[in-house]
Amino acid sequence: MARDFFEVVVVGGGPSGSTCARLCAEEGLSTCLIEEHAVAGYPVQCAGLLSTAAFQECEVSRKPVLHEVSGARIVTGLGSELSFDAGKTRAVVVDRAALDQEMLAAAAKAGAEIRLKTGFFGISGSHILTRGLSGKEQIRFSVLVAADGPRSGVARALAMERPRVYLAGIQADIPREMDGRLVELYPDASPEFFGWIIPSGKGRARIGLCGTHDIPGRFERFLRSAGAESCIHLVSGTLPLGVMPKTYGHRTLFVGDAAGFPKPTSGGGVYTGVRSARHAARAAAEACRRKDSSDRVLKEYEKSWKADIGSELETGFRLFKLRQSITPEEMDRLVHSLRDPGVIRDILQYADMDRPGAIIRRVLGNPALYPALGILFKKMVASYFK
Ligand SMILES: Cc1cc2nc3c(=O)[nH]c(=O)nc-3n(C[C@H](O)[C@H](O)[C@H](O)COP(=O)(O)OP(=O)(O)OC[C@H]3O[C@@H](n4cnc5c(N)ncnc54)[C@H](O)[C@@H]3O)c2cc1C
Repeated sequence: MARDFFEVVVVGGGPSGSTCARLCAEEGLSTCLIEEHAVAGYPVQCAGLLSTAAFQECEVSRKPVLHEVSGARIVTGLGSELSFDAGKTRAVVVDRAALDQEMLAAAAKAGAEIRLKTGFFGISGSHILTRGLSGKEQIRFSVLVAADGPRSGVARALAMERPRVYLAGIQADIPREMDGRLVELYPDASPEFFGWIIPSGKGRARIGLCGTHDIPGRFERFLRSAGAESCIHLVSGTLPLGVMPKTYGHRTLFVGDAAGFPKPTSGGGVYTGVRSARHAARAAAEACRRKDSSDRVLKEYEKSWKADIGSELETGFRLFKLRQSITPEEMDRLVHSLRDPGVIRDILQYADMDRPGAIIRRVLGNPALYPALGILFKKMVASYFK
């Protein structure tokens, strides 16, 4: 008969759930992770671009790394281009399935019990209901961690208020020879967000976009404009932006995509998801130590992730909202002005993919950008009063 009580139960075996389960098990807490699929990491719903810092946060071997990039090229629909190259690795392109599997294996090695092909389908007080290989079961917990991705069944079952915005994303692996050092960004391929072409090594690239409208149509046009003739692997997914208003409650901590942690400026969610999982593991350990999983104890989780990444995510969400009102002409003018050598120097020196606040503040102070920024500034002020 399967064990039916654990101090910590984690729902979801993505990077956030595996990290949280590993850290809880390392703290000596009895920990169980359930994952609805037979294997972690499938289906892939990610471009696999991680800053070097984000990759380190995952604490895995180099095996999932397919390629390394050192800069970016931004191309507008009206023809302006901006390229910068740090000359050293700034980000890696990973095989997400391999990354997730290694992270889950690390949780198991630390002592967490992993139940694959086991799906959460309900909650009642201090136990969850699961459906799996051995049929329907209940697992009791002291602390539950919802790491079950953008659609979070746990958040829905507990009627939690959800993240503010959901974007749809689609991406294909295609054969393509390109400058392997640079990630290419196409703001006008999807005007609420952007499109990307990421070199993934060995004559291959990942081409995709995220947005709110006409995603299949835009994707088809983007593929055509890039001259892509055949797709090797197709990925689609949902990107939740704007962290849910309350990330704890009902003895539960919400981490990663389940809570809306992806960065609103880039959609990258591995770094912030893993960071949120670290804070959640600490809060879960404290709740178990005190034998108290009430909001009074769990609220420390929200305090600590906010102190770490809260202001970056809030600034990012404001920029995301501003992005919604930028026309292709304004985007073109902005990218053109960013070509100033001083701005490029600042980007190379201060840009941090995971914490873009510092470079944004720095660049905003550069007089070369005043003409382009004037319009955006007025829009930003207007958006505050909406
Ligand atoms: C098109 C696209 C491209 C992206 N590109 C990048 C990128 O380049 N870099 C980056 O950092 N981020 C990217 N992201 C975001 C990134 O994929 C997510 O932020 C990241 O996967 C979040 O990890 P997570 O562990 O919180 O959730 P997930 O990775 O979604 O893991 C959730 C897990 O929970 C499981 N689960 C769900 N429901 C249940 C249930 N009821 N019972 C049991 N298990 C359940 C799922 O099977 C899954 O394994 C992209 C997203 C999209 C859509």
